[in-house]
Amino acid sequence: MARIALVTGGSRGIGAAISKALKDDGYTVAATYAGNDEAASKFSEETGIKTYKWNVADYNESKAGIAKVESELGPIEVVVANAGITRDAPFHRMTPEQWNEVIDTNLTGVFNTIHPIWPGMRERKFGRVIVISSINGQKGQFAQVNYAATKAGDLGIVKSLAQEGARAGITANAICPGYIATEMVMAVPEKVRESIIGQIPAGRLGEPEEIARCVVFLASDDAGFINGSTISANGAQFFA
Ligand code: NDP
Repeated sequence: MARIALVTGGSRGIGAAISKALKDDGYTVAATYAGNDEAASKFSEETGIKTYKWNVADYNESKAGIAKVESELGPIEVVVANAGITRDAPFHRMTPEQWNEVIDTNLTGVFNTIHPIWPGMRERKFGRVIVISSINGQKGQFAQVNYAATKAGDLGIVKSLAQEGARAGITANAICPGYIATEMVMAVPEKVRESIIGQIPAGRLGEPEEIARCVVFLASDDAGFINGSTISANGAQFFA
C-alpha cells in the first residue's frame, strides 16, 4: 500500500515540486494551499494530486482538514510542513501585524500541522516529519526579524520532536534551502537577482526539485537513523 504524505503549501513553488517528487516516488499525496484556487486546480489537473484548502495558522481548520485527508486517503505517515510567507520590513518599521502574521503562519502553522498527526504516528510506530526552514533561519537576514525567528524556531521544533519521537519510530528533520528559483525569487528585478546570485558560490539559484529530492530521501526508510538533523541546500552559501 502506498504511504500517505501531506504537503502544506504543496500546490505552488517548492511545495509543488515536493508533492510531485513524493508522488513519483510512490506516495499518495495530499497538497494543501491557502486561497489561490486557480493555481491549486491547475496543479491538481496537471498532476492528479488532490488539493485541500485550509489556513495553517488556524488550529481548528488544520485539525478538521487533516481529519478530512485521513478519512479520504488514510493515515498520514509523512508530513511536510512547507507553507510559509514573508512580510519583510526593517525592524524599526516592522508592525506587530507583520510580526504576528509571519509567526502565526510559519511557526504556529508548523505546530498546527504536526500536532493533529502526531498521535497517529505514535500509535502506528512510524512517521516522517519534515519541516522546510530556511538559510535565513540559520544566519538571520536584514528586514526579516519575523521570518528568521520562525525559521530558527523550526530547527528547535525538529530537534525536540526527534527526541520525543525516536522510540516511536518517528523522525523529524529540517531542510534549510538557500535561494531557490520559485516565482517569488524570479519576480524580483533582474539586477537584484543578479546580486543575489553573486553571493552564491555555486553561481546559480537552486531548483525546487533539488529541495524535493532532499524530502524524498528524508521520508524514505533509508533515512531512519537521521533524526533531529538539518540539511542545508544552498550552493555553499556559508555563514558565520
Ligand atoms: P510560495 O509562495 O511559492 O508558495 C507558498 C505556498 O504556501 C502556497 O501553496 C500557499 O498557498 C501556501 N500558504 C501560504 N500561506 C498559507 C497559509 N496560511 N495556510 C496554508 N497554506 C499557505 O513559497 P515558496 O515555494 O517560495 O516557499 C515554500 C517554503 O520554502 C516556505 O516555507 C519558505 O519560507 C521556504 N523557503 C523558500 C525559499 C525560496 O527561495 N523560495 C528559500 C528558503 C526557504 P496559496 O497558493 O493558496 O497562496
